[in-house]
Amino acid sequence: MNKIHRSGILFVLSAPSGAGKTTLTTALRQKPDFVYAVSCTTRPPRTGEIDGEDYFFLAPDDFQARIAAGDFLEYAEVHGRFYGTLRTTVLENLSKGVDVLIDIDTTGAASIRSCPDPVIAAALADVFIMPPGLEELAHRLRRRGTESEDQITMRLRNAAAEMRHWRDYRYTIISGSMEEDIEKFRAVMRAERYLSRRLIIPEP
Ligand code: 5GP
Repeated sequence: MNKIHRSGILFVLSAPSGAGKTTLTTALRQKPDFVYAVSCTTRPPRTGEIDGEDYFFLAPDDFQARIAAGDFLEYAEVHGRFYGTLRTTVLENLSKGVDVLIDIDTTGAASIRSCPDPVIAAALADVFIMPPGLEELAHRLRRRGTESEDQITMRLRNAAAEMRHWRDYRYTIISGSMEEDIEKFRAVMRAERYLSRRLIIPEP
């Protein structure tokens, strides 16, 4: 049989802050059978974060200039800062049949879902990571120690709002241990890669 091709998948991952998503994406990136599309943000880097690897850290003016230039596939204001997905990274990889993972909030995911581009619509596979509960989330955020108490309060309020959107996603993973979350996300990736409609098989 001739070579089988597959169209690229756009994995959209959303999870309230503190649900363990960064650890999850870091672990997934250890086996890079997809491209992680690094977002732009106006939030300052946390200790240990690397420009170009965790985010492209932009000044607010630069971010606005990129909005005006149409560089973002979607962007949103989250926790008082701007975050955006670069259009070219996503589209160039999908067109080569390479899978892309983006880690975005529920507003960004809604924009992607309503995106008129048929390539994006066909590629989309969206996954929500549901934290075990707000108390556990508060505990995780405090243990992480990267945010002030005010920031934690804001993030918890936003988390409660984000958690109401889980039904909008094709998949929901109830967050358990990190190993469980990774295994479940990998299972979603495997299943999506076998969808008949994604395969391009030459006629016999
Ligand atoms: P954090 O500041 O904790 O890294 O991220 C805060 C929130 O912004 C998370 O919910 C994360 O998913 C979201 N986020 C990160 N990058 C993007 C992006 O490019 N677009 C949107 N809409 N949200 C993003």
